[in-house]
Amino acid sequence: MFPGLDDQTLTGGVLFYDGQMYSPVRLALAFLKSALQIGAYAANYMEVTGFLRDGRRVTGVGVVDRMTGARFDVRARVVLNAAGAWSVRLLDQALGVQLAPLPSFSRDACFVVHRPLGGRPALAVTGKTKDPDAILSRGDRHLFVVPWRDHTLVGVWHVVHRGDPDTAVVTMAEVQAFIDEINESYPGLALHLEDVSLCQAGLVLFGENSEAATDLRYGKRSLIVDHAGEHDVQGLLTVIGVRYTTARSVAVRAIDQVLTKLGRPVPPSTTGFTPVYGGGIERFADLLARALGERHPALTDNTLRALVRNHGAAYTEVLGYLDENPAWAESIGSSATIKAEIIHAVRGEMAQKLSDVVFRRTDLGSGNRPDPRSLQACADLMASELGWDETRTQKELEEVQSLYPAWVRPDGTEAHV
Ligand SMILES: Cc1cc2nc3c(=O)[nH]c(=O)nc-3n(C[C@H](O)[C@H](O)[C@H](O)COP(=O)(O)OP(=O)(O)OC[C@H]3O[C@@H](n4cnc5c(N)ncnc54)[C@H](O)[C@@H]3O)c2cc1C
Repeated sequence: MFPGLDDQTLTGGVLFYDGQMYSPVRLALAFLKSALQIGAYAANYMEVTGFLRDGRRVTGVGVVDRMTGARFDVRARVVLNAAGAWSVRLLDQALGVQLAPLPSFSRDACFVVHRPLGGRPALAVTGKTKDPDAILSRGDRHLFVVPWRDHTLVGVWHVVHRGDPDTAVVTMAEVQAFIDEINESYPGLALHLEDVSLCQAGLVLFGENSEAATDLRYGKRSLIVDHAGEHDVQGLLTVIGVRYTTARSVAVRAIDQVLTKLGRPVPPSTTGFTPVYGGGIERFADLLARALGERHPALTDNTLRALVRNHGAAYTEVLGYLDENPAWAESIGSSATIKAEIIHAVRGEMAQKLSDVVFRRTDLGSGNRPDPRSLQACADLMASELGWDETRTQKELEEVQSLYPAWVRPDGTEAHV
Protein backbone atom coordinates (compact mmCIF):
# COMPACT_ATOMS: atom_id res chain seq x y z
CA MET A 1 0.00 0.00 0.00
CA PHE A 2 2.83 2.44 0.82
CA PRO A 3 5.85 1.73 -1.36
CA GLY A 4 7.52 4.89 0.02
CA LEU A 5 8.01 3.30 3.44
CA ASP A 6 11.49 2.20 4.42
CA ASP A 7 10.88 -1.57 4.39
CA GLN A 8 14.29 -2.33 5.91
CA THR A 9 13.10 -1.06 9.26
CA LEU A 10 9.56 -2.40 9.17
CA THR A 11 8.77 -5.06 11.74
CA GLY A 12 5.06 -5.51 11.07
CA GLY A 13 1.83 -3.81 10.31
CA VAL A 14 -1.81 -3.67 11.20
CA LEU A 15 -4.87 -2.52 9.26
CA PHE A 16 -7.70 -0.86 11.12
CA TYR A 17 -10.70 1.34 10.40
CA ASP A 18 -11.66 4.71 11.79
CA GLY A 19 -14.15 7.49 11.19
CA GLN A 20 -13.38 11.01 10.00
CA MET A 21 -15.14 14.34 10.30
CA TYR A 22 -15.67 16.22 7.09
CA SER A 23 -15.70 19.58 8.86
CA PRO A 24 -15.15 19.95 12.62
CA VAL A 25 -16.17 23.63 12.52
CA ARG A 26 -19.47 22.91 10.75
CA LEU A 27 -20.16 20.08 13.19
CA ALA A 28 -19.60 22.43 16.14
CA LEU A 29 -22.05 24.87 14.52
CA ALA A 30 -24.57 22.06 14.02
CA PHE A 31 -24.49 21.36 17.78
CA LEU A 32 -25.00 25.05 18.49
CA LYS A 33 -27.91 25.29 16.06
CA SER A 34 -29.50 22.20 17.61
CA ALA A 35 -29.37 23.94 20.99
CA LEU A 36 -30.91 27.12 19.53
CA GLN A 37 -33.73 25.04 18.05
CA ILE A 38 -34.79 23.87 21.49
CA GLY A 39 -34.61 27.25 23.20
CA ALA A 40 -30.97 28.12 23.91
CA TYR A 41 -29.57 31.57 23.19
CA ALA A 42 -26.12 31.96 21.66
CA ALA A 43 -24.00 35.08 21.33
CA ASN A 44 -20.79 35.54 19.40
CA TYR A 45 -17.81 37.60 20.64
CA MET A 46 -19.14 37.81 24.20
CA GLU A 47 -16.39 37.23 26.73
CA VAL A 48 -17.15 36.27 30.30
CA THR A 49 -14.96 38.48 32.47
CA GLY A 50 -16.27 37.68 35.92
CA PHE A 51 -18.87 35.95 38.05
CA LEU A 52 -21.78 37.68 39.78
CA ARG A 53 -21.86 36.69 43.44
CA ASP A 54 -24.27 36.61 46.31
CA GLY A 55 -22.10 35.46 49.19
CA ARG A 56 -20.82 31.96 48.31
CA ARG A 57 -23.35 31.60 45.48
CA VAL A 58 -22.64 32.41 41.83
CA THR A 59 -25.67 34.18 40.37
CA GLY A 60 -24.51 34.86 36.82
CA VAL A 61 -21.64 36.24 34.77
CA GLY A 62 -20.28 39.62 33.77
CA VAL A 63 -19.77 39.89 30.02
CA VAL A 64 -17.96 42.21 27.64
CA ASP A 65 -18.99 42.49 24.01
CA ARG A 66 -15.64 42.21 22.25
CA MET A 67 -16.98 43.97 19.16
CA THR A 68 -18.33 47.11 20.87
CA GLY A 69 -16.73 47.10 24.32
CA ALA A 70 -20.19 47.18 25.94
CA ARG A 71 -20.43 45.45 29.31
CA PHE A 72 -23.47 43.75 30.79
CA ASP A 73 -24.52 41.02 33.21
CA VAL A 74 -26.26 37.72 32.55
CA ARG A 75 -28.07 36.36 35.60
CA ALA A 76 -28.52 32.62 36.05
CA ARG A 77 -29.52 30.12 38.71
CA VAL A 78 -26.72 27.83 37.59
CA VAL A 79 -23.60 28.67 35.55
CA LEU A 80 -21.80 25.98 33.54
CA ASN A 81 -18.23 27.03 32.78
CA ALA A 82 -17.22 25.26 29.53
CA ALA A 83 -14.40 27.55 28.38
CA GLY A 84 -11.98 24.72 27.55
CA ALA A 85 -8.39 25.42 28.58
CA TRP A 86 -9.47 28.96 29.57
CA SER A 87 -11.84 27.59 32.24
CA VAL A 88 -8.99 27.23 34.71
CA ARG A 89 -7.75 30.82 34.25
CA LEU A 90 -11.30 32.16 34.49
CA LEU A 91 -11.91 30.38 37.79
CA ASP A 92 -8.61 31.59 39.19
CA GLN A 93 -8.77 35.21 38.06
CA ALA A 94 -12.49 35.87 38.43
CA LEU A 95 -13.29 33.74 41.45
CA GLY A 96 -10.00 32.96 43.19
CA VAL A 97 -10.71 29.25 42.81
CA GLN A 98 -7.89 26.84 41.90
CA LEU A 99 -8.63 23.34 40.71
CA ALA A 100 -6.73 20.62 42.55
CA PRO A 101 -4.95 18.82 41.09
CA LEU A 102 -4.34 21.54 38.55
CA PRO A 103 -5.25 20.04 35.14
CA SER A 104 -2.50 19.98 32.55
CA PHE A 105 -3.12 20.71 28.88
CA SER A 106 -1.47 19.48 25.74
CA ARG A 107 -0.93 21.79 22.82
CA ASP A 108 -2.06 19.42 20.11
CA ALA A 109 -0.90 20.34 16.63
CA CYS A 110 -1.37 18.98 13.13
CA PHE A 111 -0.85 20.40 9.66
CA VAL A 112 -2.45 20.24 6.23
CA VAL A 113 -0.45 19.28 3.16
CA HIS A 114 -1.93 20.66 -0.05
CA ARG A 115 -1.59 17.45 -2.00
CA PRO A 116 -3.52 14.19 -1.74
CA LEU A 117 -2.12 10.85 -0.64
CA GLY A 118 -2.87 9.45 -4.08
CA GLY A 119 -5.96 7.42 -3.25
CA ARG A 120 -4.21 5.53 -0.47
CA PRO A 121 -5.69 4.93 2.96
CA ALA A 122 -4.34 6.65 6.04
CA LEU A 123 -0.99 5.69 7.46
CA ALA A 124 -0.01 5.54 11.12
CA VAL A 125 3.71 5.75 11.74
CA THR A 126 5.68 5.71 14.94
CA GLY A 127 7.13 9.07 15.84
CA LYS A 128 10.90 8.99 16.31
CA THR A 129 12.11 12.25 17.75
CA LYS A 130 11.44 13.89 21.06
CA ASP A 131 10.95 17.61 21.42
CA PRO A 132 13.91 18.73 23.55
CA ASP A 133 12.04 21.85 24.66
CA ALA A 134 8.98 19.96 25.79
CA ILE A 135 8.58 19.71 29.54
CA LEU A 136 7.33 16.19 28.97
CA SER A 137 7.84 14.05 25.93
CA ARG A 138 7.14 10.49 25.04
CA GLY A 139 8.65 8.10 22.56
CA ASP A 140 6.64 5.68 20.44
CA ARG A 141 3.93 8.18 19.60
CA HIS A 142 1.69 7.39 16.72
CA LEU A 143 1.54 9.99 14.01
CA PHE A 144 -1.12 9.82 11.35
CA VAL A 145 -0.87 10.73 7.70
CA VAL A 146 -4.49 10.88 6.62
CA PRO A 147 -6.22 11.69 3.35
CA TRP A 148 -8.67 14.56 3.94
CA ARG A 149 -10.60 15.90 0.95
CA ASP A 150 -7.98 16.86 -1.68
CA HIS A 151 -5.35 17.23 0.99
CA THR A 152 -3.37 15.23 3.53
CA LEU A 153 -3.66 15.79 7.24
CA VAL A 154 -0.56 15.04 9.33
CA GLY A 155 -0.28 14.81 13.12
CA VAL A 156 -1.02 14.98 16.00
CA TRP A 157 1.95 16.18 18.06
CA HIS A 158 1.47 16.70 21.78
CA VAL A 159 3.45 19.10 23.94
CA VAL A 160 2.46 19.94 27.49
CA HIS A 161 1.47 23.59 27.67
CA ARG A 162 1.60 25.50 30.91
CA GLY A 163 0.47 29.02 31.63
CA ASP A 164 -1.63 31.40 29.57
CA PRO A 165 -3.72 29.50 26.98
CA ASP A 166 -3.43 32.48 24.61
CA THR A 167 0.31 31.87 24.24
CA ALA A 168 -0.05 28.40 22.66
CA VAL A 169 1.51 28.72 19.20
CA VAL A 170 3.41 26.51 16.76
CA THR A 171 6.73 27.83 15.52
CA MET A 172 8.26 27.27 12.11
CA ALA A 173 11.11 25.32 13.75
CA GLU A 174 8.56 22.94 15.23
CA VAL A 175 6.80 22.40 11.92
CA GLN A 176 10.18 21.72 10.32
CA ALA A 177 10.88 19.17 13.08
CA PHE A 178 7.46 17.57 12.45
CA ILE A 179 8.27 17.33 8.75
CA ASP A 180 11.68 15.77 9.46
CA GLU A 181 10.03 13.22 11.73
CA ILE A 182 7.46 12.23 9.12
CA ASN A 183 10.10 12.07 6.35
CA GLU A 184 12.20 9.77 8.47
CA SER A 185 9.28 7.39 9.01
CA TYR A 186 7.87 7.68 5.51
CA PRO A 187 10.63 8.82 3.12
CA GLY A 188 8.35 8.39 0.09
CA LEU A 189 6.28 11.37 1.12
CA ALA A 190 9.28 13.73 0.72
CA LEU A 191 7.60 16.58 2.56
CA HIS A 192 8.90 20.14 2.44
CA LEU A 193 7.82 23.22 4.35
CA GLU A 194 6.27 24.63 1.16
CA ASP A 195 3.87 21.66 1.06
CA VAL A 196 2.27 22.79 4.31
CA SER A 197 -0.71 25.04 3.68
CA LEU A 198 -2.09 25.35 7.18
CA CYS A 199 -1.17 24.46 10.73
CA GLN A 200 -3.83 23.78 13.36
CA ALA A 201 -3.25 23.83 17.10
CA GLY A 202 -5.36 23.82 20.22
CA LEU A 203 -5.23 22.97 23.89
CA VAL A 204 -6.58 19.63 25.03
CA LEU A 205 -6.90 18.28 28.56
CA PHE A 206 -4.07 15.90 29.42
CA GLY A 207 -4.01 13.05 31.89
CA GLU A 208 -2.31 13.53 35.21
CA ASN A 209 1.42 13.76 34.61
CA SER A 210 4.22 14.62 36.93
CA GLU A 211 6.92 16.98 35.70
CA ALA A 212 9.45 14.15 35.36
CA ALA A 213 7.20 11.69 33.53
CA THR A 214 8.52 10.34 30.27
CA ASP A 215 5.53 8.18 29.48
CA LEU A 216 2.76 10.73 29.07
CA ARG A 217 -0.73 9.86 30.12
CA TYR A 218 -3.03 11.35 27.56
CA GLY A 219 -6.32 12.76 28.75
CA LYS A 220 -8.89 10.00 28.70
CA ARG A 221 -11.41 11.36 31.13
CA SER A 222 -13.20 14.67 30.89
CA LEU A 223 -13.45 16.79 33.98
CA ILE A 224 -16.74 17.83 35.57
CA VAL A 225 -16.32 19.85 38.76
CA ASP A 226 -19.15 20.82 41.08
CA HIS A 227 -17.72 23.79 42.94
CA ALA A 228 -20.26 23.40 45.76
CA GLY A 229 -18.47 20.31 46.99
CA GLU A 230 -14.89 21.25 46.19
CA HIS A 231 -14.77 24.99 46.82
CA ASP A 232 -17.92 25.80 48.76
CA VAL A 233 -19.19 27.87 45.82
CA GLN A 234 -22.85 27.22 44.97
CA GLY A 235 -24.48 27.45 41.53
CA LEU A 236 -21.35 26.75 39.48
CA LEU A 237 -20.10 23.76 37.49
CA THR A 238 -17.01 23.49 35.31
CA VAL A 239 -16.77 20.98 32.49
CA ILE A 240 -13.58 20.47 30.49
CA GLY A 241 -14.05 17.98 27.67
CA VAL A 242 -11.21 15.83 26.47
CA ARG A 243 -12.47 14.64 23.07
CA TYR A 244 -14.97 15.58 20.43
CA THR A 245 -15.97 11.93 20.17
CA THR A 246 -17.02 11.70 23.82
CA ALA A 247 -18.52 15.20 24.05
CA ARG A 248 -22.14 14.09 23.98
CA SER A 249 -21.85 11.72 26.91
CA VAL A 250 -19.92 14.34 28.89
CA ALA A 251 -22.65 16.87 28.08
CA VAL A 252 -25.31 14.47 29.34
CA ARG A 253 -23.54 14.12 32.69
CA ALA A 254 -23.00 17.88 32.99
CA ILE A 255 -26.59 18.78 32.09
CA ASP A 256 -27.96 16.14 34.48
CA GLN A 257 -25.99 17.86 37.25
CA VAL A 258 -27.36 21.26 36.20
CA LEU A 259 -30.93 19.89 36.36
CA THR A 260 -30.27 18.44 39.79
CA LYS A 261 -28.97 21.80 41.00
CA LEU A 262 -32.10 23.47 39.64
CA GLY A 263 -34.22 20.96 41.54
CA ARG A 264 -35.74 19.70 38.30
CA PRO A 265 -36.45 16.09 37.37
CA VAL A 266 -33.66 14.48 35.33
CA PRO A 267 -35.27 12.77 32.33
CA PRO A 268 -33.29 10.22 30.31
CA SER A 269 -31.20 12.06 27.73
CA THR A 270 -32.33 11.89 24.11
CA THR A 271 -28.96 12.87 22.65
CA GLY A 272 -28.14 9.31 21.59
CA PHE A 273 -30.90 9.31 19.00
CA THR A 274 -31.35 13.02 18.25
CA PRO A 275 -29.60 14.04 15.04
CA VAL A 276 -27.68 17.31 15.09
CA TYR A 277 -29.01 20.22 13.07
CA GLY A 278 -28.99 19.20 9.40
CA GLY A 279 -28.10 15.64 10.39
CA GLY A 280 -31.55 14.06 9.99
CA ILE A 281 -30.32 11.98 7.06
CA GLU A 282 -31.26 8.37 6.46
CA ARG A 283 -28.59 7.72 3.81
CA PHE A 284 -26.14 10.43 2.85
CA ALA A 285 -25.76 9.05 -0.69
CA ASP A 286 -29.52 9.45 -1.24
CA LEU A 287 -29.49 13.05 0.00
CA LEU A 288 -26.60 13.85 -2.29
CA ALA A 289 -28.25 12.16 -5.28
CA ARG A 290 -31.46 14.10 -4.63
CA ALA A 291 -29.57 17.40 -4.35
CA LEU A 292 -27.70 16.71 -7.58
CA GLY A 293 -30.97 15.70 -9.30
CA GLU A 294 -32.81 18.85 -8.25
CA ARG A 295 -29.83 20.98 -9.03
CA HIS A 296 -30.09 24.74 -9.26
CA PRO A 297 -29.04 25.57 -12.86
CA ALA A 298 -26.33 27.99 -11.73
CA LEU A 299 -24.58 25.48 -9.45
CA THR A 300 -21.96 22.96 -10.46
CA ASP A 301 -21.96 19.39 -9.12
CA ASN A 302 -18.80 20.25 -7.24
CA THR A 303 -20.29 23.20 -5.36
CA LEU A 304 -23.49 21.28 -4.62
CA ARG A 305 -21.53 18.34 -3.27
CA ALA A 306 -19.56 20.64 -0.95
CA LEU A 307 -22.76 22.39 0.14
CA VAL A 308 -24.48 19.12 1.07
CA ARG A 309 -21.38 17.81 2.87
CA ASN A 310 -21.04 21.01 4.89
CA HIS A 311 -24.70 21.69 5.70
CA GLY A 312 -26.29 18.24 5.51
CA ALA A 313 -30.05 18.34 5.05
CA ALA A 314 -29.97 22.09 5.86
CA TYR A 315 -28.23 22.88 2.55
CA THR A 316 -31.59 24.11 1.20
CA GLU A 317 -31.38 27.07 3.62
CA VAL A 318 -28.33 28.31 1.73
CA LEU A 319 -30.03 27.76 -1.63
CA GLY A 320 -32.93 29.89 -0.34
CA TYR A 321 -30.75 33.02 -0.67
CA LEU A 322 -30.54 32.49 -4.43
CA ASP A 323 -34.19 33.57 -4.74
CA GLU A 324 -33.12 36.98 -3.45
CA ASN A 325 -30.03 37.20 -5.65
CA PRO A 326 -29.22 34.49 -8.23
CA ALA A 327 -25.68 35.92 -8.56
CA TRP A 328 -24.91 34.51 -5.10
CA ALA A 329 -24.70 31.08 -6.78
CA GLU A 330 -21.23 32.11 -8.02
CA SER A 331 -18.34 30.48 -6.27
CA ILE A 332 -15.58 32.48 -4.60
CA GLY A 333 -12.48 32.24 -6.80
CA SER A 334 -11.66 28.63 -7.63
CA SER A 335 -13.15 27.34 -4.36
CA ALA A 336 -16.35 25.31 -3.99
CA THR A 337 -17.72 27.95 -1.59
CA ILE A 338 -20.58 29.97 -3.08
CA LYS A 339 -21.40 33.59 -2.28
CA ALA A 340 -24.71 32.55 -0.70
CA GLU A 341 -22.71 30.77 2.03
CA ILE A 342 -21.11 34.11 2.98
CA ILE A 343 -24.54 35.75 3.18
CA HIS A 344 -25.84 32.81 5.21
CA ALA A 345 -22.86 33.00 7.57
CA VAL A 346 -23.57 36.68 8.26
CA ARG A 347 -27.37 36.55 8.46
CA GLY A 348 -27.90 33.10 9.92
CA GLU A 349 -24.67 32.21 11.77
CA MET A 350 -23.52 35.40 13.52
CA ALA A 351 -20.34 35.85 11.46
CA GLN A 352 -18.95 39.22 12.57
CA LYS A 353 -15.50 39.16 11.08
CA LEU A 354 -13.90 38.01 7.85
CA SER A 355 -11.92 35.43 9.82
CA ASP A 356 -15.22 33.93 11.06
CA VAL A 357 -16.29 33.25 7.48
CA VAL A 358 -12.89 32.08 6.22
CA PHE A 359 -12.01 29.75 9.12
CA ARG A 360 -15.17 29.03 11.09
CA ARG A 361 -18.18 29.02 8.71
CA THR A 362 -17.05 28.02 5.22
CA ASP A 363 -14.40 25.89 3.56
CA LEU A 364 -12.49 28.91 2.25
CA GLY A 365 -9.59 28.62 4.68
CA SER A 366 -9.69 24.95 5.59
CA GLY A 367 -7.32 23.58 2.96
CA ASN A 368 -5.34 25.97 0.83
CA ARG A 369 -4.75 29.60 1.65
CA PRO A 370 -7.39 31.58 -0.31
CA ASP A 371 -5.90 33.93 -2.92
CA PRO A 372 -6.16 37.72 -2.32
CA ARG A 373 -8.92 38.17 -4.92
CA SER A 374 -11.10 35.53 -3.23
CA LEU A 375 -10.57 37.14 0.16
CA GLN A 376 -11.43 40.54 -1.33
CA ALA A 377 -14.65 39.15 -2.89
CA CYS A 378 -15.59 37.63 0.44
CA ALA A 379 -14.78 40.85 2.35
CA ASP A 380 -16.80 42.96 -0.15
CA LEU A 381 -19.87 40.77 0.39
CA MET A 382 -19.52 41.04 4.16
CA ALA A 383 -18.96 44.81 3.89
CA SER A 384 -22.24 45.27 2.03
CA GLU A 385 -24.07 43.09 4.56
CA LEU A 386 -22.54 44.63 7.69
CA GLY A 387 -21.99 48.22 6.48
CA TRP A 388 -18.18 48.13 6.71
CA ASP A 389 -16.30 51.12 5.31
CA GLU A 390 -13.05 50.79 3.35
CA THR A 391 -10.88 51.08 6.48
CA ARG A 392 -12.73 48.29 8.29
CA THR A 393 -12.68 46.08 5.20
CA GLN A 394 -8.90 46.51 4.88
CA LYS A 395 -8.43 45.75 8.57
CA GLU A 396 -10.39 42.52 8.22
CA LEU A 397 -8.34 41.49 5.19
CA GLU A 398 -5.07 42.20 6.96
CA GLU A 399 -6.18 40.23 10.00
CA VAL A 400 -6.95 37.12 7.93
CA GLN A 401 -3.60 37.41 6.12
CA SER A 402 -1.80 37.68 9.45
CA LEU A 403 -3.40 34.43 10.64
CA TYR A 404 -1.50 32.57 7.92
CA PRO A 405 2.08 32.72 9.14
CA ALA A 406 4.56 33.74 6.48
CA TRP A 407 7.47 31.62 7.64
CA VAL A 408 10.85 32.95 6.72
CA ARG A 409 13.48 30.33 6.03
CA PRO A 410 17.04 30.72 7.33
CA ASP A 411 18.17 31.83 3.86
CA GLY A 412 15.73 34.78 4.07
CA THR A 413 13.17 33.58 1.52
CA GLU A 414 9.56 33.42 2.56
CA ALA A 415 7.60 30.18 2.85
CA HIS A 416 4.00 30.85 1.85
CA VAL A 417 1.77 28.80 4.10
C1 LIG B 1 -4.95 19.28 16.63
C2 LIG B 1 -6.11 18.67 17.39
C3 LIG B 1 -6.61 17.43 17.01
C4 LIG B 1 -7.70 16.86 17.68
N1 LIG B 1 -8.18 15.67 17.25
C5 LIG B 1 -9.25 15.13 17.85
C6 LIG B 1 -9.80 13.91 17.37
O1 LIG B 1 -9.31 13.32 16.40
N2 LIG B 1 -10.88 13.38 18.03
C7 LIG B 1 -11.45 14.00 19.09
O2 LIG B 1 -12.44 13.48 19.61
N3 LIG B 1 -10.96 15.17 19.57
C8 LIG B 1 -9.87 15.75 18.99
N4 LIG B 1 -9.35 16.93 19.47
C9 LIG B 1 -9.91 17.47 20.74
C10 LIG B 1 -11.15 18.34 20.53
O3 LIG B 1 -10.91 19.33 19.56
C11 LIG B 1 -11.48 19.02 21.88
O4 LIG B 1 -11.73 18.01 22.82
C12 LIG B 1 -12.71 19.91 21.81
O5 LIG B 1 -12.52 20.94 20.87
C13 LIG B 1 -13.02 20.52 23.17
O6 LIG B 1 -14.17 21.34 23.04
P1 LIG B 1 -14.59 22.37 24.14
O7 LIG B 1 -15.76 23.11 23.61
O8 LIG B 1 -14.72 21.69 25.45
O9 LIG B 1 -13.34 23.36 24.31
P2 LIG B 1 -12.71 24.38 23.27
O10 LIG B 1 -12.83 23.85 21.88
O11 LIG B 1 -11.36 24.72 23.80
O12 LIG B 1 -13.68 25.64 23.37
C14 LIG B 1 -13.66 26.53 24.47
C15 LIG B 1 -14.31 27.81 23.98
O13 LIG B 1 -14.48 28.71 25.07
C16 LIG B 1 -14.19 30.01 24.63
N5 LIG B 1 -13.82 30.85 25.78
C17 LIG B 1 -12.66 30.85 26.47
N6 LIG B 1 -12.69 31.75 27.47
C18 LIG B 1 -13.91 32.34 27.40
C19 LIG B 1 -14.53 33.38 28.15
N7 LIG B 1 -13.92 33.97 29.19
N8 LIG B 1 -15.78 33.77 27.78
C20 LIG B 1 -16.41 33.18 26.74
N9 LIG B 1 -15.87 32.19 25.99
C21 LIG B 1 -14.63 31.78 26.33
C22 LIG B 1 -13.03 29.83 23.65
O14 LIG B 1 -12.95 30.92 22.78
C23 LIG B 1 -13.46 28.53 22.93
O15 LIG B 1 -14.25 28.81 21.82
C24 LIG B 1 -8.27 17.53 18.80
C25 LIG B 1 -7.77 18.78 19.19
C26 LIG B 1 -6.70 19.34 18.50
C27 LIG B 1 -6.19 20.71 18.94
